[in-house]
Amino acid sequence: MLNIVLFGPPGAGKGTQSERLKSKYGLVHISTGDVFRALDPESDLAKLAKSYSDKGNLVPDDITIEILEAEVLKHPDAKGVIYDGFPRTTAQAEALDNFLAKKGTSVSVMLSLVVPEDELKTRLIERAKVSGRPDDADPEIIQNRINTYNNSTAPVAEFYRGQNKLSEINGVGTINDISERLYAAIDKN
Ligand code: ADP
Repeated sequence: MLNIVLFGPPGAGKGTQSERLKSKYGLVHISTGDVFRALDPESDLAKLAKSYSDKGNLVPDDITIEILEAEVLKHPDAKGVIYDGFPRTTAQAEALDNFLAKKGTSVSVMLSLVVPEDELKTRLIERAKVSGRPDDADPEIIQNRINTYNNSTAPVAEFYRGQNKLSEINGVGTINDISERLYAAIDKN
């Protein structure tokens, strides 16, 4: 199985590139952010998740891990999966390793999109005009998401570096250029 962790700060282009990787390699794309946004808005779970995400905070690990595992189990015949927005903490990375080990597989590679902070902010402010997402609309919330990334999520890259699975990709350039960089890193595996 090809299990790709697509990693990077908010606004790095994970969603855009996931769509391309999905069609090129025939993978299932799982974005935990998308899964949270697709929950029935009246459900307790959706309200709970939204109480964190609207402020730019992470949803607690136990809930997120359960949601992710349920989503993966919906695709028993997948040739591979792109994990987009997961894992975002070291505890989530450990949970993913254990979960995949039970299925007799493992993470193939972490592709980490590297984009400078100023560029991220510009992209998120642009995205706010079309996304309708409350967490894109407010510069303070954007800053909180970036800080959360730096404090809680960036260490996940070190976790995979320790397993020799980290591949850092320059995330600045045209969408096509960045796709080509990702394909080259995947095809090396
Ligand atoms: P971004 O564009 O910031 O990468 P996402 O769409 O991936 O946004 O996620 C939106 C929000 O959903 C996050 O700010 C967070 O509150 C929540 N979320 C998504 N994935 C996770 C995760 N793996 N762990 C905790 N919270 C998450």
